[in-house]
Amino acid sequence: MSRSDVIVVGAGMAGLTAARRLQEAGRAVQILEAAPHPGGRMATIHLDGDAADTGAQYFTAFTPRFQAQVHAWLAKGWIHLWSMGLASGSLAPNRTQGQLRYIAEGGMGRLAERLAQDLEIHCAQPVVAVEGAGGFWQVHTRSGTTFQAPALVLTPPIPVILELLQAGGVALADEDRAALSSVRYAPCIAGVFRFQGEVHVPPPGSVQRPAHAINWIADNRQKGLSQGPVLTVHANPDYSRRYWEAPELEIRETMLAALQGYLGPEAQVIEARIVRWRHALPESPLLQRAYAVSLPGEDSSEPTLVLGGDAFAGPRVEGAFLSGQAAASALLQV
Ligand SMILES: Cc1cc2nc3c(=O)[nH]c(=O)nc-3n(C[C@H](O)[C@H](O)[C@H](O)COP(=O)(O)OP(=O)(O)OC[C@H]3O[C@@H](n4cnc5c(N)ncnc54)[C@H](O)[C@@H]3O)c2cc1C
Repeated sequence: MSRSDVIVVGAGMAGLTAARRLQEAGRAVQILEAAPHPGGRMATIHLDGDAADTGAQYFTAFTPRFQAQVHAWLAKGWIHLWSMGLASGSLAPNRTQGQLRYIAEGGMGRLAERLAQDLEIHCAQPVVAVEGAGGFWQVHTRSGTTFQAPALVLTPPIPVILELLQAGGVALADEDRAALSSVRYAPCIAGVFRFQGEVHVPPPGSVQRPAHAINWIADNRQKGLSQGPVLTVHANPDYSRRYWEAPELEIRETMLAALQGYLGPEAQVIEARIVRWRHALPESPLLQRAYAVSLPGEDSSEPTLVLGGDAFAGPRVEGAFLSGQAAASALLQV
């Protein structure tokens, strides 16, 4: 059995942020991540030397707390300013207008890897159950390993959290169960296409198309991620629900049809990947930034089980960051 002060489940932005803050406060932290690498929905795939973001494409910073973090990442050269807006909607006519949008050097997955440096992170360790016993949390992974700590932060999507608690026999208070069960997520099917020949996506390298089934097109070359033309496209929730079980070829065809207006006459697909994000976007987030679970016999001012992620008080990368900070604060009681 592996022991620490705090276990964090999930190495997306929320889990990494919580773990870093707890470690900075002197806690021994272990992170358990199901995927082979950190990042969660901040994900970058590699195709023959080229890279493409498949989940989060950029981030904004509205709050002073996240702005301070963004400035620190800018100073380290981990991110850079991409644009003040996007084509077909919000592209600002000059650089003093429009919302600042940032992208990560090497892709969103690279930023997650950098945030995971210096943390004890166990990747490819899907958690299958969480159990509370004798003042400790025991976290069981699919490989049969058990991790133990007096405090636990859970950051997977809420339906997964509920499954893990149920599998370990953790009984939730009725109001917690009702609140958590109310959160729904929209799915998103993403496609990444590498082309031979020219593609023509307007600057800064993306098009928002809110009225279309394929509602986002990004040019990874203009984002500095690929040498050649590699496009990422996202489908809206309606399309993603309808095509969730569809064969990859069918999805590729509809996505390529949507791309026609952006392709040069000679453009040919030389590689394509489809990524299905089941819990892409929380549709009904909760109000708390972090959720301290009430447990029988526990003083509510000293929680030992805290939930975080973008379903708490604000979606997107910024919301996940703020939730991770709030989860750590709840455990540190600051
Ligand atoms: C297609 C798409 C486009 C997006 N575009 C943008 C954008 O442009 N800008 C923006 O700001 N945001 C965007 N977002 C949203 C943004 O990516 C998320 O809000 C943010 O990354 C969520 O971080 P998180 O830590 O809450 O969750 P996640 O990143 O989902 O992290 C949860 C982690 O838990 C892990 N996990 C799950 N189950 C288990 C288990 N059983 N055991 C162990 N680990 C487990 C997962 O593998 C994952 O790493 C987008 C999301 C998607 C899907």
